[in-house]
Amino acid sequence: MQLITFTNRGIFCAKGNFYIDPWLPVDHAVITHGHADHARRGSKHYLCHKFTAPILRLRIDANLSISTVDYNETVFINGVKLSMHPAGHIIGSAQIRLEYEGYVAVISGDYKTEYDGLSTAFEPVRCNEFVTESTFGLPIYNWLPQQKLFDDIKKWIAGNQAQNKTSVFIAYSLGKAQRLMKGLEGDAKIFVHNAINNLNTAIESCGIILPATQIINMEMNKADVQNNIVILPPALLGTNLIKKIPNAAVAICSGWMQVRGSRRWQAADAGFAVSDHADWNGLLSAIKATGAQKVFVTHGSTATFSKYLNEIGIEAAEVATQYGKEDEEMIAEPEKTDG
Ligand SMILES: [Zn+2]
Ligand SMILES: [Zn+2]
Repeated sequence: MQLITFTNRGIFCAKGNFYIDPWLPVDHAVITHGHADHARRGSKHYLCHKFTAPILRLRIDANLSISTVDYNETVFINGVKLSMHPAGHIIGSAQIRLEYEGYVAVISGDYKTEYDGLSTAFEPVRCNEFVTESTFGLPIYNWLPQQKLFDDIKKWIAGNQAQNKTSVFIAYSLGKAQRLMKGLEGDAKIFVHNAINNLNTAIESCGIILPATQIINMEMNKADVQNNIVILPPALLGTNLIKKIPNAAVAICSGWMQVRGSRRWQAADAGFAVSDHADWNGLLSAIKATGAQKVFVTHGSTATFSKYLNEIGIEAAEVATQYGKEDEEMIAEPEKTDG
């Protein structure tokens, strides 16, 4: 049996007649999380985790037709048992578990195995077939533990403050920005761009309490901002808003920062390998914990990663998808350098 197939519209469950994270419009879309490459506009009806619904309404359409479930809640769609389980990637991110006649498929969307202080912690789900991403599916990607990572970031902020510098973080507006806010809460005043603030408001509409922030724009009170923390989305790098921030020290937060050759380094004073995706060991441990007989590898280092899985005795196949193209990790991907 195979419960899911890969079509030109997205991952399809024929028995249940619905798609998971379709990239073309369909009647019934089941959504793993709110990032733009997984949650696309145009479908008639959406099913997602309750924390993802306000993100879809903000990013796609306020009047979107959406049903929601909580983690571990079960619904039946045309006889297929569906439930969502924490993926640890961003707030509301879910692995989709499908069961039919005792056969189980899990579509993990994007996931991260380490708890980030905010997103519900990743839970491995046993299954027969598992769909995994491989954004950082190379052995060089090996993240610092959350605590050590934030200790390093805080040390950098303290060094900046000692020189009257403002610590500016470039971080994707959904996921990473909130993770930084949470991890740096209480260290200094936190200013965020309006794009981040809009997402914060959507997230808080679910009853989640985020750290207090202020909005930063061109009308900023410089004295108020100086020595504090500013979080901006990647599109703001190199703009007038950054230039206006008094005495700015800029840090880029992305998994790609682990690779020193990244061109993005040149635009920044520091880089922190903060990622919402699993690293090499995280991917492997998650896959092993599913006990799956068959693994499908979607976006990222699909060729290398699926080859490695087969070598260690886990049957794996690459599948072509449209994911990753609007993922901040992909946008921030280092261009090939000869150094
Ligand atoms: Zn994502
Ligand atoms: Zn993705």
